[in-house]
Amino acid sequence: MYDIIIIGGGPAGLTAGLYAARAKKKTLIIEKGIEGGQVAETTGIENYPGIDKIDGAELGMKMAEQAKNFGAKIVMDEVESVDLTGDVKKIKGTVDEYEAKSVIIATGANPREIGAPGEREYKGRGVSYCSICDAAFYEGEDVYVIGGGDSAVQEAIFITNFAKKVYIVHRRDELRASKDLQEKAFNNDKIDFIWNSEVVEIKGDKVVNEMILKNNKTGKTQSITSDDPFGIFVFIGYVPNTELFKDQVNISDNGYIITDDEMKTNLPGVFAAGDIRNKTVRQIVNAAGDGAIASINAQKYIDEAEGNLYEGFKEE
Ligand code: NAP
Repeated sequence: MYDIIIIGGGPAGLTAGLYAARAKKKTLIIEKGIEGGQVAETTGIENYPGIDKIDGAELGMKMAEQAKNFGAKIVMDEVESVDLTGDVKKIKGTVDEYEAKSVIIATGANPREIGAPGEREYKGRGVSYCSICDAAFYEGEDVYVIGGGDSAVQEAIFITNFAKKVYIVHRRDELRASKDLQEKAFNNDKIDFIWNSEVVEIKGDKVVNEMILKNNKTGKTQSITSDDPFGIFVFIGYVPNTELFKDQVNISDNGYIITDDEMKTNLPGVFAAGDIRNKTVRQIVNAAGDGAIASINAQKYIDEAEGNLYEGFKEE
């Protein structure tokens, strides 16, 4: 029986793990993929306080090491089902089964797909959702980045390290990305923009060799083709990973877990942290902040249930 199990090993989960383990709680972090989660696929992070610039994979690794150094255990497993309603929280993974007094859900979100025909078929054969994984394949080639938010613009800038030219394809004529990123992209000779355009189909042979775009102002379509391989990198936001929890914890209309300021969900002893929460700002720094708050309140929950709550923590 663990004191605290954290589902998800991104910045929120790893920070929750660090705080829990440092407070001497028996702590398990379950991660299905790579330590750091989504952040491990992010490049050139310049807005994590105290660090000038770092790639997400390194930041994720450092966070995981720090949590482990304090005694947190990290296992690679994919959670299949949960029962979070009782005093003992039960989690079933593909590898093992786990029990805890308290659970922190930090499962984050997965990249949103365009939904165009051919997108899934050519995933890994021209269509990518991760520039750090795939940009190097497009050395000297053209790349089309789909989206207009921070991710699209930040990753487009990164991809210019490899590609001959990067075209940002956005469905409006104005970017959503922050002004500093916009400025960097507008000043980058290797970046061009295709405005008011949406991907309607992706075609190819063994790999992608055609993309059909539709201008949503004029209704006209254009076909992008090349004899050389080209890449399509999709950064159009994320879809929250709430499937496992949606029948047990309260979920907002847009699919995110509802918590209060203490990261408490509607279930006693169950907390949520990071991008999975219903909130407006999703940054690494506030994911980490959520993780710390969730962890401290999970510790309080356990101590209170066991009659060990420190006097200063008792509510008026
Ligand atoms: P986002 O902010 O939700 O932006 C998504 C972009 O994709 C928007 O420009 C949106 O267009 C477009 N889009 C959405 N659905 C689309 C569709 N079906 N077809 C075509 N385009 C579509 O997502 P994000 O850029 O991934 O960022 C997620 C969060 O992480 C944000 O809170 C962001 O600030 C944060 N983030 C921060 C940094 C940083 O601070 N350096 C870096 C990366 C991410 P519209 O604009 O027309 O809606």
